[in-house]
Amino acid sequence: MLITVKASPEPSKSYGDTVCVAGVRLNEDGTGSWVRIYPVAFRHLDTDQQFKKFEVIEVELARSTKDARMESFRPNWETLSRQRNGGEFKTYPADARGPVLNPLIGPTMCDLRAGVEADLNAQSLGLVEVRELKALRFEDHGPWTRAQVASMTAVMSQPDIFGEVDSTPILIAPRYKVHYDYVCMSSTCRGHKPRILDMELSALQYHNRFKSDDGLKAIITQKFHTEMWNEKVRTYFFVGNFGDIVKRKNFSVLGIYRPKRDSDYGATLF
Ligand SMILES: [Zn+2]
Repeated sequence: MLITVKASPEPSKSYGDTVCVAGVRLNEDGTGSWVRIYPVAFRHLDTDQQFKKFEVIEVELARSTKDARMESFRPNWETLSRQRNGGEFKTYPADARGPVLNPLIGPTMCDLRAGVEADLNAQSLGLVEVRELKALRFEDHGPWTRAQVASMTAVMSQPDIFGEVDSTPILIAPRYKVHYDYVCMSSTCRGHKPRILDMELSALQYHNRFKSDDGLKAIITQKFHTEMWNEKVRTYFFVGNFGDIVKRKNFSVLGIYRPKRDSDYGATLF
């Protein structure tokens, strides 16, 4: 599986905090298919299990019993294998990503939404092209609720089978919820305003948590707008919806794919 996104960690009743990981299963015949693995208590995995984005991992997956979306699986971390190149863990070369990812670009964001409206278990992960990107929208995140803090603390203070308590620092709430405001490639698109749930946004907010409000917004804007939407790149969002049936029609942006314009595979069409 080629890992394409790691979503923002969220408090969890059973694991302290978890993330959703998504990627592309590399099939024998050279095609790729979407895979979501959940839950992943990523921050609590051993350091040598904390795989990176665009790494290829091998792991046994079982159908999720609680989630009927066809892309959803539960991982068995005992079976995780990562590829090393010398001492370093290997990521998939940038120029090899296009042949895997480009065939998965297709349904627009409007198409994916319409699919879920017709069938709650329709395609739930996608890579959608951005036609126009407007300014980022910021909203105060606010603190975790008391119940969230209580469950995170309770889980993490439980000794494991070796009698050890998890020493991972408790998850800090980010300062902002950040939303994109964009138009997809559908000719009738009236716009989408998804929240960005990308672990890199969480990390960026954490590392810059002592900056002023304006300072932090400027840093986020640089990384998630200026660098993601300009004449040098083509911009695609990795999108995914929620397991919760009530929120199933809401797709978030889990990551960004922005191949350089001069590596345009479409150029071969002319
Ligand atoms: Zn649209």
